[in-house]
Amino acid sequence: MRKKLTIALVAHDHRKADMVDWVIFNSDFLSHHHLVCTGTTGGLVRDALNEEGVFPEITCMNSGPMGGDAEIAAMVVRKEIDLAVFLIDDLNAQPHEATVTAPT
Ligand code: PGA
Repeated sequence: MRKKLTIALVAHDHRKADMVDWVIFNSDFLSHHHLVCTGTTGGLVRDALNEEGVFPEITCMNSGPMGGDAEIAAMVVRKEIDLAVFLIDDLNAQPHEATVTAPT
């Protein structure tokens, strides 16, 4: 039996559609793992996967601008995240840029 991974998924606003496409494309793989998402991304990921008939364990942290990125960064520091997929919108500075670019 393969190891259940903890996978972080975060997408900035202009990349959320890309994240939805990515999770649908990878829904079989993701169905076996625990997903940890920032708030808004997590809701979209859950809806997209549920529509595919896939119901993985999903933990939604706070929204990114409310500290969700920092919560996930802390999990990375504690080695609680096996894989992180972070789709950033590099054309627009985020109000919470400091936590997005924090050295983790
Ligand atoms: P969100 O946060 O998924 O709650 O939009 C992502 C971010 O802005 O970093």
